[in-house]
Parts: sequence; C-alpha cells; structure tokens
Amino acid sequence: MDNDTKNENIRMEEIIKASAPHLELPAKESLGVKGIEPCTIVIMGATGDLTARKLVPSLFNLYLNDGLPNSFSIVGCGRTKLSDQQFRNKMKDALVAARLMNHSKWPSFAAALSYRSVDYMDLTSLISLAESLRELDQKHNTKGNRIFYLALPPSLYKQLAQMVGQAGLGKERENGNGWSRIVVEKPFGRDLKTAVALNYGIQEYFKEHQIFRIDHYLAKETVQNILIFRFANAIFEPIWNRRYIDHVNITASETLGVEHRAGYYEQAGVIRDMFQNHIMQLLALTAIEAPSQFETNRVRDEKVKVFRSLRPFPIEKLHEYIVLGQYGQGEIDGETVSAYRDEPGVNSHSLTPTFARMKVFIDNWRWQGVPFILTSGKRMAKKLTEIAIQFKGVPHSMFRQTLGETIEANRLALGIYPDEKITLTFQTKNPGAQVCLRSVTMDFSYHQKYTGPILDAYEKVLIDCMLGDQMLFWRQDGIEQCWSFLTPIVSECETCGNREEMLHFYKSGSWGPRDIGRIR
Ligand code: NDP
Repeated sequence: MDNDTKNENIRMEEIIKASAPHLELPAKESLGVKGIEPCTIVIMGATGDLTARKLVPSLFNLYLNDGLPNSFSIVGCGRTKLSDQQFRNKMKDALVAARLMNHSKWPSFAAALSYRSVDYMDLTSLISLAESLRELDQKHNTKGNRIFYLALPPSLYKQLAQMVGQAGLGKERENGNGWSRIVVEKPFGRDLKTAVALNYGIQEYFKEHQIFRIDHYLAKETVQNILIFRFANAIFEPIWNRRYIDHVNITASETLGVEHRAGYYEQAGVIRDMFQNHIMQLLALTAIEAPSQFETNRVRDEKVKVFRSLRPFPIEKLHEYIVLGQYGQGEIDGETVSAYRDEPGVNSHSLTPTFARMKVFIDNWRWQGVPFILTSGKRMAKKLTEIAIQFKGVPHSMFRQTLGETIEANRLALGIYPDEKITLTFQTKNPGAQVCLRSVTMDFSYHQKYTGPILDAYEKVLIDCMLGDQMLFWRQDGIEQCWSFLTPIVSECETCGNREEMLHFYKSGSWGPRDIGRIR
C-alpha cells in the first residue's frame, strides 16, 4: 500500500469513528460460496451512477461476507482522468452513501481497487489497458481471469465490446489471459433489428458462454423462488393451468419518476425499459413447463418456448390489448411531484409512455385462453412487484340461497417486492351461529426462520459471473423472441396516426390511467 493510501485510510477511519460510528457494520455470516476462481473485474464506465450505487457497494458487501475470491482486483475505467487514489476516494464516498462503510475492512478492499483512464474509441488505449491488466494480474495473482462489465450508455456496447475484442482481451487462455467474460447491462437493443446487430457485434469477439446479459430482476431471491415453489411442490402444478386459472396479473410499479435518466427514458419508454426484460422474465417463470433438470440451458430452453408461444397482437385492434399512459402532476408520500413533461430533460410535448398495461396470451396447451395482464408504470401509488394468480370461482355454489351468488375465487400472490411473501386467499366460515363467509389469507414470509446472509440482486449476479453460471442471464434467442413479439407493438405505438389519443394521462401517486378499457 503506498503512503498516500495509508494516510488517506487512517484519515477516513478517524472521520468515520468520530462522525458516524453506526456505519461500522459487523461482518456478516460468510456466504460460503465455493469455487470462485481469482479474477479481475474491469468496470467500463466506472465514474457513473451504476458503479457507485450498485456495483462497488455490492462488491464490497461480498468482500465483507467472504463472497469474493481470495485474490481479486477491481479496475475502474473511464474517459475521466483519475488517479487510483481519487478513484478509491470516490468509491469510498459511494460506500458511505450506501451506508456500507466498514473501516476495518476498507483498507484491504481499497488496495484491490485501481483506475485506468481509457479512450474507448482508440485501439491503442485499449491495448495499453491490456498491458496494464497483465501487470495487475501479476500484482494481485488473478491468473488472467477477467470480467469486463459494460456500465456505459447502451449505444456504446457494441463498439466497446469490439474494441475490447480487438485488443485481444476476449481470447481465452492465450497471451496471458485466463477466462474472459463480458457483462452487458439492459437494454439489449431498441428492437429486434438492433438487438440482432448488437449481438452480432459482440459475438465477433466473444462466444455465447462468455456473454452475460444481466437482468438483475432474475437474481432477486423471490424471483428465483418461483421455480422452486412451482416445481419442488407437488400440489401446485396440477392446478397451474387453464382449467383452474382464470387470469394472471403481473405488476411492477414504481413510485419514482424518470429521475436523472430523461435522456435515456425519452428514447426508451416503459415498454423497452420494463417489459422487454423484467416483465417478460416474470411471465416466463410463471408460465414455463418444468425443465427436465435445473440446469442452465434446459431452464433457458423452456423460457424461450414460452416467448415463442406468445400470440402476436392484432395490430389493427391494438387498443383492445394495450393501454399506454404518462404521469401527470400528483402527490407521492405527501409531496407534490411534477408531471413527466415538466421533468428536466423531457420534451414538453413528449408522447413517451411511462405506463403500460398489456393483455397477452400464450398459445400452448397449458395456457390457451388465459389472459396474462402485464402492468408497469412510474410514479404510481406504490412500489410493488407481484405475480397474482387468480383462480376460477367454484363451479357451483351450494351456498347460493344463504349467501347469494358471489363467492370470491382463490388468489395466490407471489410477492417479489416490497413484501417478499406468498399469500393464498381463500374462504372460511365466520365464527358464530350463522353461516357467513369471509376471505382469509395464509401468508408465508420469505425470510421466515432464516437468519443467514441475504444476497442483493447485484451481489448474486456478480457471484454468478465469477462462477461462470449463466442460469440467471438472458440468452440471445430469448431476447430475439421477446423482441419479435414486442417490436411490432412498439413500432405501431410509436408511428400510428393516433399516437396522442393512445396516451392516457394519470395522476402521479395513482394506479395509472382510469380508462383501462377492456384490459382488466
Ligand atoms: P451513466 O450515464 O452514469 O454513464 C456511465 C459512464 O459512462 C459515465 O460516468 C461516463 O464516464 C461514461 N460515458 C457517458 N457517456 C459516454 C459517451 N458518450 N462515451 C463514452 N463514455 C461515456 O450510466 P449508468 O452508470 O447509470 O448506467 C450504465 C449502464 O447500466 C447503462 O447502460 C444503463 O442503462 C444500465 N443500467 C443502469 C442502472 C442504474 O441504476 N444506473 C440500472 C440498470 C441498468 P466517463 O465520462 O468517465 O468516461
């Protein structure tokens, strides 16, 4: 450790002790992850938001819980000129902001951080990065194993992957390299054509087993639990089909607005931002057939079959299948918030949807005729991610004469966020002399009786990248199938003559537009 770093670390420890003793967290129980080989994590775009808010806090948390290999190094890259020490200071601030600063382990973690300024458009700059990585391999004993994490604007993914490849960094077990993996953040293209082109560009230098297309939703414990719930219990599968299920609601609502990402969001809109990735994955996990083994490609094969079975929308009757909305002014947590069109960086006449509800059908034996209602929006009443299975009502009510016609049908809710729980709603008799029904719920909280460490979604995906396990990552054919379904819809929504009429405004803090037509 150089003297600057030592002094800086001592200073930081003093500041933390004096001002915020609560920030020193006890190290948690070990994660006990086995088989992670030494490696270097190269973050391209390391001066950005994702690195500060998610990647480095996740890596540090893994470090605190023995979730990183014994030998590792983290190399931040960016156009910004920073020294190693300046980068460390920046990351230290990020950890303090994430309330994760543990001063006793910070110095050793900081020693594994370095920064290289890179001009992504200049091959010689990437070649010097390759040279630098070889030196860092020697210093940290990381055996030439590398992960290249593209935390950059999506328009740069293809070019950057190619530059990394041209600098010889995609080759495995050659020229001082060990294994080499590239991580690409969503969005994966804007439509089918761009997704295919992006993939084509990346695959010039990286093979499919080297490409990790992240959807951090998939790494949420509760999302992974969907498969366990469905296929490790014998009692649910027999009723998980069109005979017993009336419809399925999949909701991912946010209370946040567009924040500082207007530039991206104006071009993307809710369908690209949420449906093409997260919502489609939740749909796939709810609908897939049981893979013969819990093995990466078999699970991904089954998901692709679901995407391939999505019934194309009848474009001429789009309004019967999709509702689009945009948030207006309103109140969130008692505070007045602006309309989307008044957000900084947003066009004052913007027609970008911030809300969509879609009714989709899966044309296969199991799901024929069962609507899947998919909803996502910004600035809604509550941050909520949930899959709700609405069962059919009883075929005949023997209580009709005493209780009337309506008996509420059973509902099974798989709560992903914030309530990580499974809830089954059913009818029971109210205690007392008279026959009187009431709906009750049986709840299972995901963390019930569990005291071990909990992995954040980014921590899980980082571990899987280091292990080379692609189960929770998108495969290219899945992306293309989803885009084949969504591209005609997005294209019609963006180019049709009645674009303005298609957009329904809703009050911030509500559950979306009132006029949701036949989509309920
Ligand atoms: P930022 O907008 O913060 O950009 C990251 C870095 O990229 C910047 O600090 C900048 O570093 C570099 N950069 C920006 N523009 C250019 C350019 N034109 N040419 C070269 N470099 C550029 O992005 P985020 O960190 O927010 O996101 C990174 C990726 O992750 C994006 O693809 C985003 O869609 C995705 N993502 C982000 C999430 C988040 O919470 N932020 C969540 C999910 C996905 P420098 O100037 O130093 O080179």
